[in-house]
Amino acid sequence: MRIVGNILFILGILGSILLGIILLVMVPVSIVDDTSPPLAYVIFFIFLFVLIGLPTFLLIYFGRRLRNNANHAAMIGSSASPHTPGTPSAPARMTASSVRAKMVVCLGCGAQKSVLPNEAATCDYCGSATPYE
Ligand SMILES: [Zn+2]
Repeated sequence: MRIVGNILFILGILGSILLGIILLVMVPVSIVDDTSPPLAYVIFFIFLFVLIGLPTFLLIYFGRRLRNNANHAAMIGSSASPHTPGTPSAPARMTASSVRAKMVVCLGCGAQKSVLPNEAATCDYCGSATPYE
C-alpha cells in the first residue's frame, strides 16, 4: 500500500508540474492573442482544471492518505511487538534469577533444591527449611 501511495503522490506531483507548464504557456498566449474570442480561453482553462487539476489534486490527496495509513499501521505494529527495547524478555529474566539461585542440600532428607537469596524455601519432599546460607 505504501508503494501505491508513493506512485499516486508522484503522479499527482507530475500532473501539477504539467498543469503549471501549460498555464505558464497558455496564460500569456491568451493575453497576447487577439484573434480568438476570450471565452474560448476561459473554456480551455476550465477544461484544463477539470481534466488535469482535479485528478492531480485527488492523486496527491489519496497518495498522501495511503502513505499516512501505511506509516500509522507500521507504528501500531512496532508498538504491539512484545519485545520492546529496554525490558528484558522472559528467558533473559529467568537466566538472571537462575544465576543468583543456589542448589541447597536439604538437612532433613538430603534432596537438592534451588533456592534464591531472599527466599524462605522449604524442602519439597520433607518440608524442612532449606536456607540459602
Ligand atoms: Zn527434605
